[in-house]
Amino acid sequence: MYQGSCLCGKVQYKLLSDPQRVSSCHCTMCQKQHGAAFATYGNLPKADLVYVAGADLLASYNSSAKIERKFCKECGSSLEWCGSAEHPNWTSITLSTLDTPFNPETITQIFTETKACWLETN
Ligand SMILES: [Zn+2]
Ligand SMILES: [Zn+2]
Repeated sequence: MYQGSCLCGKVQYKLLSDPQRVSSCHCTMCQKQHGAAFATYGNLPKADLVYVAGADLLASYNSSAKIERKFCKECGSSLEWCGSAEHPNWTSITLSTLDTPFNPETITQIFTETKACWLETN
């Protein structure tokens, strides 16, 4: 079981299954939301993400008609991306908010056509 939290620590969650199909998304929306070159997400069934504290502090922003990006309204940490039409019962958790070490076997780089020009990759 994995545990995670936001920057201020008021939102805490646990994962009942391993995050799957981990990807680093370089799309411009993830860049803006995270204030970073890319955002790394792991996918899991919605039922396997359990908020154990601070669920009332979660705010959500619709970056498109169905896509919800959830974040802590106290500290701004991005926590969840959900609403995919293809996978309605799944959600994506930001890997960087995990407190339990998790090292995915592979990370797929997506939307690399909008990769930040200053991002060094090898
Ligand atoms: Zn917070
Ligand atoms: Zn993205």
